[in-house]
Amino acid sequence: MKIEYAYNVENLITRSKDYIYINYRIMNNQDVLPYFIFLTTTVGVKVKKITTRKLWMLEDKFKRSLHDLIHSQLIGNNGTHIQTVIGLEEACDGCEKCSNIAKKCLEYGPLRFSTLQTMTYSKNYKKLHVTDKLFEVIAEYCISKSKNKEECFEELDKTILATISCDKLAIWINETRILPNEGTDPTRDHMHMPREVIDIILRKWKVKSLKLNMLHITNERLCSVEWHRYDYFTRVRLNDPYLKTKQSDLKFIHVEVSLSYSCYCVRDLGNRQLIVNQPRGFDNFIPNIRRLFPTDQISMNLSHWFAVPEINIAKRMSTILEVVTMEKPQNLSLDIMFFVNIGIVKKLNEETDRVELLSIASGYVLQKKRLHCFKKSSPFNGDHGPEVFLDNKWIGRRFQVENAENQFNFNLDVYIKEKELEEGFDKALLQIYPNSFVETFFIKTV
Ligand SMILES: [Zn+2]
Ligand SMILES: [Zn+2]
Ligand SMILES: [Zn+2]
Repeated sequence: MKIEYAYNVENLITRSKDYIYINYRIMNNQDVLPYFIFLTTTVGVKVKKITTRKLWMLEDKFKRSLHDLIHSQLIGNNGTHIQTVIGLEEACDGCEKCSNIAKKCLEYGPLRFSTLQTMTYSKNYKKLHVTDKLFEVIAEYCISKSKNKEECFEELDKTILATISCDKLAIWINETRILPNEGTDPTRDHMHMPREVIDIILRKWKVKSLKLNMLHITNERLCSVEWHRYDYFTRVRLNDPYLKTKQSDLKFIHVEVSLSYSCYCVRDLGNRQLIVNQPRGFDNFIPNIRRLFPTDQISMNLSHWFAVPEINIAKRMSTILEVVTMEKPQNLSLDIMFFVNIGIVKKLNEETDRVELLSIASGYVLQKKRLHCFKKSSPFNGDHGPEVFLDNKWIGRRFQVENAENQFNFNLDVYIKEKELEEGFDKALLQIYPNSFVETFFIKTV
């Protein structure tokens, strides 16, 4: 079950805060309880999975009552059927009800520190979610409990228990964190994470795979700076120059990157020379991932919300290739799903004043199979209001880059909405510009 707060970004200030989307349907504050009762009694639904999003942006009283209703009506005191709860602690900042449920779930988080402290039992989680803020809180807790570096690391060892294990660790990373009493750094944001805290969690919890959720906003925007004053912990950022990042000796099966709610990370992967804004260094993203979370398999999605998919597909594909091969990667299989607007398959030639179709960027080889997927998406940016909750069928083509010598394989799967291909596109252009990029989407064979 999905319980999400979404609003039109244009109304950020004036947005009302007393409604919520439940499974993509809008519902007012006062209708939530009757609806929950209807679901659990009349329909007899046993809720196994609850994903909430942005509940912290709701009006305070509604937020608290929604948190309590989710516990009392959907989960129940015993939590007999519940398996997954995501995002609920963003509404309460960690409470006893939530930590009790954390114990029953197979997938849970992001956990606040108070919940982590209750996890003294032994349990194997399928998936746990943590935030970059939690790493800082742990570091500062250990500092506060100790007189020197040695004691601090003893405290860290006592705080992260090996009785817990998790197959997959999801790390939520805020892209726009700021220092207290300071404006934002114009070039690089403050994403320092205490490396030793991350490493001990990965080791003691026996993490096998990772997911990185890059997020434009969360309710943990403010950095903690106390730990910066001690030289106990190594500061690490995913957007630092990668040669600065020390190679870890751990190994993971797979690292998955979600960029659906990212702004800067998506942007830097598809742009190298930025005119308007300073780059934030995310072109170092993949080499940094491989130093911090060593793996031979990375997959990511570049969403259709932000700057990258807006102009010139040929240029974007070349830039992406340039960024992902920056380090000349070896033994890496990389899969990227790239969702774009149909508008970017053509450009206006200013000399002739005619619209031309762009071709496939060099270096890529088109693969035969046509792809498709359905994406029910939540609004995030710009003029995308809640109407984008609509179900959309996307058609995709795979473009491959292979380097056998380095054992590097890169699949770029580019997706365009089926509706845009069928309705919004002037097919006569295909005859004038043969071998265009977009033509590959109309080849019906295979
Ligand atoms: Zn709670
Ligand atoms: Zn900083
Ligand atoms: Zn499919």
